[in-house]
Amino acid sequence: MSAADASFDVVVVGRGAVGAAAALGVAQSGLRVGWVGPAARSSVLDPDGGTPGEAWDSRVFALSPGTRELLRALRIWDAMPAARIAPVYDMRVYGGAEADAPELHLDAYSGRVDALAWIVENRTLVRTLDAALGFAGVASIDDAVTAMRVDEGPHGRAVLDLASGRSLAAKLVVAADGADSTLRTLAGIEPRVRDYGQRGVVANFDTSLPHGDTAFQWLGEQLGILALLPLPAASPERGRTSMVWSAPDALADELLALTPDALAERVAEATHRTLGVMTTITPAQSFALRLIRVPRLIAPRMVLVGDAAHAMHPLAGQGMNVGFGDVAVLLDVLRGREPYRELGDPLLWRRYERARREAVSLMQDATDGIKRAFGPLPAPLVGLRDLGWRAVARSDWIRRRMIAQAAR
Ligand SMILES: Cc1cc2nc3c(=O)[nH]c(=O)nc-3n(C[C@H](O)[C@H](O)[C@H](O)COP(=O)(O)OP(=O)(O)OC[C@H]3O[C@@H](n4cnc5c(N)ncnc54)[C@H](O)[C@@H]3O)c2cc1C
Repeated sequence: MSAADASFDVVVVGRGAVGAAAALGVAQSGLRVGWVGPAARSSVLDPDGGTPGEAWDSRVFALSPGTRELLRALRIWDAMPAARIAPVYDMRVYGGAEADAPELHLDAYSGRVDALAWIVENRTLVRTLDAALGFAGVASIDDAVTAMRVDEGPHGRAVLDLASGRSLAAKLVVAADGADSTLRTLAGIEPRVRDYGQRGVVANFDTSLPHGDTAFQWLGEQLGILALLPLPAASPERGRTSMVWSAPDALADELLALTPDALAERVAEATHRTLGVMTTITPAQSFALRLIRVPRLIAPRMVLVGDAAHAMHPLAGQGMNVGFGDVAVLLDVLRGREPYRELGDPLLWRRYERARREAVSLMQDATDGIKRAFGPLPAPLVGLRDLGWRAVARSDWIRRRMIAQAAR
């Protein structure tokens, strides 16, 4: 095997937020880390180039208490500007698109958590992680992986070929290269993919009414799933909100073709003017929505994390949180490894796979189940679903369980 141009303990592939957190955590464990991926805007989530501290990024995430714990341990959470983070204390989810649809109310107080989630812009998260990676001495490589081979000789390693013609060697490769993962394909892992026939349309709005630190969501059949997430507002009397509208493809096309004023009016109308008059402050963007399941989370000298390992419907705002959950377990396995085990030891990574498989499929099943329940259904099932929704909305026990699950 030819010599590689550079050699690391661990190479993390993918410069999205999950790959960044993995690279930082591994480097903080004292290992030599290479972090490779195109620095350009190839991710669905890369910053959109707005001026720091001014424009609001249309891509925001609802980060869970579990994610906050990981980001605190990585010393990232407190480094993010507090003025760009909005806590969610209440969540109002409507089982229908109508103004009088039955409401499920979740609140941080009765769930005994600090907040149900925190809304953070992608740009804020990625920039803070980027800066920390520089301090941690991670080698950042602006390139793309095109091929991988594993050499299990006396000095077992994986070798990655890059688009530039260079190559990198590592004891372990962490594949964080997103839903269309090249690394997953190179490892021969065949994903099962289901297109939801919906696109996630995102945009931000100023609103004439305050949001009261509340996230709102309407689950409708024709409408799709429409969520308004709180953003830090300019004043206590007004509000600012980030929309995620999982709209059937034809409706998504319609929304994307609207002028900013027409879009604001359309969203205000669909949300029963809950936040009053709306004004579009960032242009709409859209993302394809797919369910992606993989038969294996590991391959020789490779571990899959983030969307490379699982993609899910964004209705519960959990995809990134589950990806950060992968990183937390990966770091636990690394730090708990016996001194005689080398980094590529398959026994080590089976621990990771065992620990993640159930948590990942639980979240995928839950989001897929809700998506299907509020998709087109025969009439008798619609009645049954509505009855079930009302029962869920009335049960304190179920609501507490839902908060505990979402808090992970
Ligand atoms: C509309 C919408 C709303 C969402 N809202 C939420 C939310 O509120 N909360 C939440 O938790 N999740 C949410 N999600 C899910 C979340 O966006 C994803 O789960 C998360 O961004 C995945 O991050 P990642 O780092 O795994 O992948 P990505 O961000 O896709 O990053 C992958 C990286 O790999 C790089 N790459 C690709 N191929 C190669 C290669 N060959 N070599 C090197 N690098 C490569 C890419 O350039 C990219 O930088 C939402 C998703 C959508 C679509």
